[in-house]
Amino acid sequence: MAEPHFTTVIRARPGKSTPSRPAEAAASAALLAADLSPAARRVRMLLVDRAGDQAYAFDPESADIQLIPPEVESVLRASQAGEAVPEALLEALREVLGLDGDPEVVASEPAYDRWGVTVHLNHVCNLACEYCYADGRTSDSDGNVKGAYGGHSSVISDGVLAEGMEKFMRDAPTDDVVISFLGGEPLLSETRFVEAIRIIDEKASKYGRRPTFQLTTNGTRNTPEILRCLQDHGFSVVVSVDGDRATHNRQRPKAGGAESYDQVLRGVGQLRDAGVRLGVRMTAIRGRPGIEAAHRSLAQAEAEAVGFQFHMYGGDALRPFAQEERERLFAHYVAVAHAILDGDPGARKLTTIRDVLQDIATKNKKQHHCAAGRWSNTLTPNGDVYPCHRFAGMAQFLTGNVLEDGFTFTSQAQFEDNTVSSRVVRRDGTQNCALCYAHNTCGGGCAQIAAANTGNIDELPPFFCQETRLRVQAAVRALVERLVARPQPDA
Ligand code: SF4
Ligand code: SF4
Repeated sequence: MAEPHFTTVIRARPGKSTPSRPAEAAASAALLAADLSPAARRVRMLLVDRAGDQAYAFDPESADIQLIPPEVESVLRASQAGEAVPEALLEALREVLGLDGDPEVVASEPAYDRWGVTVHLNHVCNLACEYCYADGRTSDSDGNVKGAYGGHSSVISDGVLAEGMEKFMRDAPTDDVVISFLGGEPLLSETRFVEAIRIIDEKASKYGRRPTFQLTTNGTRNTPEILRCLQDHGFSVVVSVDGDRATHNRQRPKAGGAESYDQVLRGVGQLRDAGVRLGVRMTAIRGRPGIEAAHRSLAQAEAEAVGFQFHMYGGDALRPFAQEERERLFAHYVAVAHAILDGDPGARKLTTIRDVLQDIATKNKKQHHCAAGRWSNTLTPNGDVYPCHRFAGMAQFLTGNVLEDGFTFTSQAQFEDNTVSSRVVRRDGTQNCALCYAHNTCGGGCAQIAAANTGNIDELPPFFCQETRLRVQAAVRALVERLVARPQPDA
C-alpha cells in the first residue's frame, strides 16, 4: 500500500487498458515468454498456502481464494518451484481453478479526476527524528539542520509560492485540485502558513479551481490561528506518532533532545477538537522491541486512520526478514485482519491491513503505487519541483523550477510508464511484479524507496517486497481461517 498520508490514497480513476512502455514491456514480456508458458505464468503468480490442514490458492488477478486438495497444492508448488510440470496439466489446472486472463503488459491510461501538488513551506524542523528521510541526506556544514533534504534550512518566499501556485493552477487539467503540506515542519511559522493559504486561495479563485487541503505535521506547532485556518479550509491532517510513549520518544525527540510524546498527544487532541479529518502514522524501525504492540495500541488513537510503514532505507531495506521477525509480524497482521473482520472499530483504523482486505474484497487492481510524478508533484522552498516530497534534493529527479519562464506542471512519462504489470523488479531476477501475488494490491511499490535503495524507480529493495507480500498473505490467511471455521451446512 501506499505511504499513509492522505495524498497517496487518492487515486486516478481507472482508465481503459492499453499497451504502454514498449521497450521495457517487450523486455519484460520476453523474459516471461522465454521462461514460462501462459499457463505457467498464471500458476506462478498464485499465492499457495495453508491454514492448518487446509491448502488454498489466492489468485491476484481475480482476487478469488479457492480451497484446494493436497494433490493440486503439490502440483502448484512444484510449478512455482521451477520443476518441470507437463503443460497439459498446467492448462487443466488453469481451467479448473478458473484462472482467466493473462498477465499481459497493460497500463491504465491517465484519466485524472484531480491534480495535486505538495508544498514544502520550509526545509527545517523542530524535531530530530532518527530516521527522517529528509535528514538522512543532510549535508549542511554543522550537521544540525533537520528536515533539510541534504541542503541548508530554507523557507519558501511569497514570490516562489505565488509563482508556483500560479503555474500549478494554470496547468491543472482538473478543477478539483489537492494541495498538501509537508516539510520540514509546515507549521513552524504561523504567519508563513496562514499567508500561504491566502495565496493559494487567491490563485485557485483566479483559475476557478476547487482546492482540498492536506497536511502532514509533527503535531507540536498548533496555534489558535492555525487551528482556525485548518478548520475553515476543511483540512485532512496526518500527525506522526510512533506508537507508545517509549518508542515515540526514542525515535522522535525534539531537536534539543527533549521528549515530544506528550506535546504531540496534546496536539492530536487539539486537532480532534478543531474537527479536522485526522489520521496518525507510525514509522517502525526493524529490530525495535514491541513494534506490533505499539502499532496495535494506535487503534485507540483519536484518529480516523492509522498508517504504518517500516523505515526502508539502507540496511533496513536490503536485509531480508529474519525468520522470527517474519513470524512475529505475520501473527500480528493476521490478528489485526481478524479483528477488522470481526468489526472492531479500533482495528479498522489500521490501514496497513484494512486497505489490503478492501483491495481483495473489491477486486481492486492498481497499476501504480501512488500519484508521484504523475498527477502530483512537489514544490520546494527554492522553487525546484520533484515527483514527490521524498525525492526532494535528488538531482536526477529534478523536474525544473517554477521561476523558469517555460516551466509547466506535467505528468512525467517515466512515472506514468512505471506500471506494475510492465516490469521486472530486481535485476537479479528474484522478484517480478507481474508474477507477484501482491501486484494488484501493491501497485509496484514506492518509486522513491526504490530509487534511493537501488538507483531505479522500478526496482524495490528485498524487504519492501517481503513485507508487502506478507500483508497480503496475512489478509488472505485470515479470510481462509474464517471460511474454514464457519459451520458447514448439513449435507
Ligand atoms: S514484486 Fe515487490 S514491488 Fe512488485 S508487486 Fe510484488 S511486492 Fe510490489
Ligand atoms: S514515491 Fe513518493 S508519494 Fe509515492 S509512495 Fe513513495 S514517497 Fe509516497
